[in-house]
Amino acid sequence: MSVLDIKNLNVSFYLEDGIYRAIDNVSLSIKKGSTHALVGESGCGKSITAMSILNLLPKTAKITGGNIIFEEKDLLTLSQEKIQEVRGSKIALIPQDPLTSLNPLYTIGNQLLEIIELHQHLEKDNAKEKAIEALNMVKIPAPERCFNSYPHELSGGMKQRAIIAMALACNAKLIIADEPTTALDVTIQIQIMNLLEEIKKEYGTSILLISHDLALVSQYADEISVMYSGKIVEHAPVREFFLTTNHPYSTALIRALPSNKFKKLASIKGQPPTLKQHIQGCKFHPRCSYCLPQVCNTQVPELKEIGMNHFSACHLN
Ligand code: SF4
Repeated sequence: MSVLDIKNLNVSFYLEDGIYRAIDNVSLSIKKGSTHALVGESGCGKSITAMSILNLLPKTAKITGGNIIFEEKDLLTLSQEKIQEVRGSKIALIPQDPLTSLNPLYTIGNQLLEIIELHQHLEKDNAKEKAIEALNMVKIPAPERCFNSYPHELSGGMKQRAIIAMALACNAKLIIADEPTTALDVTIQIQIMNLLEEIKKEYGTSILLISHDLALVSQYADEISVMYSGKIVEHAPVREFFLTTNHPYSTALIRALPSNKFKKLASIKGQPPTLKQHIQGCKFHPRCSYCLPQVCNTQVPELKEIGMNHFSACHLN
């Protein structure tokens, strides 16, 4: 059963010199109690897709088509007031930099209380109990002390835990984790990912994990969608994906991993296209070693099912 369904999402940027499509017909489903990873190089549209869910797009961007279904409602049709209710209560965001979510002027406790009181309408004493309980759940040592601390008094890992506590305090059904560990060192990164994994298993929370780190995804995700230049080019259960990678771009991403199954480390030639670059046919063709002349540079490949719940958009299939 899916908790959130994105259907044929299209997003364009309206800039002074023209309109540019950033997200092109993206569909994905996030199942209950599972982690769906959205991967790709910087600028491929992962974060724009995630921000569309919460209606947090930059002012120059507009959703031009599609549906985002959550609890049988299309989030794209909700008023600002209604989407604000969903944001932070039913769907929580863990950003790359926790300081963008935490207010430096208020203690962690104050920020937790504000969220709990707003979304759960609890009395102050009960709200404080709930806040401490949430800090305990994310294994913050001395939660009472953390409750009274300001964000700058906490380490990066503790700040991320406090944000995860906010999601738990509101019983969020979906956590959007946008490169949640990029700013942290490796040991803390593992602790935060393990914590998210425990939360998923214990509370049945679903996670949309935005990442460029395939090694991390291989360990923590259940399903993966690979994005390239605003499109999903491959989708599969994670195990299947790493065993039988299909799309040349996905293969190139895996070959670029230090411990890849092909043994030889290889970078992907060229650069991903910019937003303003228009590429005909398969957008990966200028960088693809398998490009079919007269086909790949003229015809857009469709996302086709090539195995059980395994989809790929490549003319070679
Ligand atoms: Fe490469 Fe052609 Fe497949 Fe695109 S459609 S990934 S260019 S082989």
